[in-house]
Amino acid sequence: MFENREKRTELSELGEFKLIDRLTKNVANRQKSTILGIGDDAAILNFENDKVLLSTDLLIEGIHFDLSYMPLKHLGYKAVMVNLSDIAAMNATPTQITVGLAVSNRFSVEALEEIYAGMLLACKKYNVDLVGGDTTSSTSGLILSISVLGTAKAGNIVKRSTAKAGDLIVVSGDLGAAYAGLLLLEREKEVFKKDQNIQPDLGGNEYVLERQLRPEARVDMIKRFADMKLIPTAMIDISDGLASEVMHLCKESALGCNLYEDKIPIDPQTVSVAELFNIHPITCALNGGEDYELLFTVSQNDFEKINGQGEFYIIGHMTETGEAKNLITTSGEVIPITAQGWDGIKMDDKH
Ligand code: ADP
Ligand code: MG
Repeated sequence: MFENREKRTELSELGEFKLIDRLTKNVANRQKSTILGIGDDAAILNFENDKVLLSTDLLIEGIHFDLSYMPLKHLGYKAVMVNLSDIAAMNATPTQITVGLAVSNRFSVEALEEIYAGMLLACKKYNVDLVGGDTTSSTSGLILSISVLGTAKAGNIVKRSTAKAGDLIVVSGDLGAAYAGLLLLEREKEVFKKDQNIQPDLGGNEYVLERQLRPEARVDMIKRFADMKLIPTAMIDISDGLASEVMHLCKESALGCNLYEDKIPIDPQTVSVAELFNIHPITCALNGGEDYELLFTVSQNDFEKINGQGEFYIIGHMTETGEAKNLITTSGEVIPITAQGWDGIKMDDKH
């Protein structure tokens, strides 16, 4: 519904090689570790003494994104963010990505250029090089598979499995906003399907829409941790909602946890959108997903380092092995946390 294409060049007019040239003509390499980028059979990288981290994410049209409300440039940007977030979640710095692309002839060259503009914007902002990829055709939708490399000193890498009982559970920003944005976009899509003359009514909700359409990976936190001389004991990024991510930390570290409802940061705009849809705001935070904040644990000895820093929210603590995973509500009720992820809530709460 946001589409406004003036020019349309068919993929068949270019062919694969010219298409790759068009898509990658603005690629610039900035990393010292990139010896050779796009153009040969493989990229050449040199990481010297750093540990190298590698992660892949697959995004499929109709499952992970919906082009009826996701502008193509945003899709490219978000696809990169999702990957950078995985590297940040290891307390590492992303350095290079590769992009696998499968497209049907429904897409024009200009549409793919938009996706690349978004990807390259993300690369520039986070100082990451696009060093290769593969391009092929798909019979129906768009498939975007991005792999990301990152580096870290061995002693700085943070896993999910190393939290200790008593560690504080901390989150790097407010939660649930991306899901609130999705609720609004889904609603407007339904309205638009019924009457194409109605323009989307999204005013006043810019923050939650931006959290859904243009998330930022918290790569900035890696430098922040280094400056603070803080190494979290365990960490994960919030792609599927707080409930499922905290369950991952508990499972991998073989611990329980207590989360406190009144400590979980939720933006007022998220609260008002949730109320509009008759959903408890905490549900957006617990089960919404796609916030791409970092969820981490720190030793109680590091309490002073994070206490009173506006950007960190202490939302609970890890408990001993065998203990339950609980949410303590504002009224003091103890509720077991279930790892209902983003897919679950999407199906349950479809209007
Ligand atoms: P090959 O036949 O060896 O797979 P390609 O012709 O597919 O090589 O790719 C040529 C060069 O372009 C390679 O360096 C590859 O990494 C790069 N490339 C191919 N597709 C993409 C893409 N979608 N995005 C970025 N780089 C790409
Ligand atoms: Mg190839």
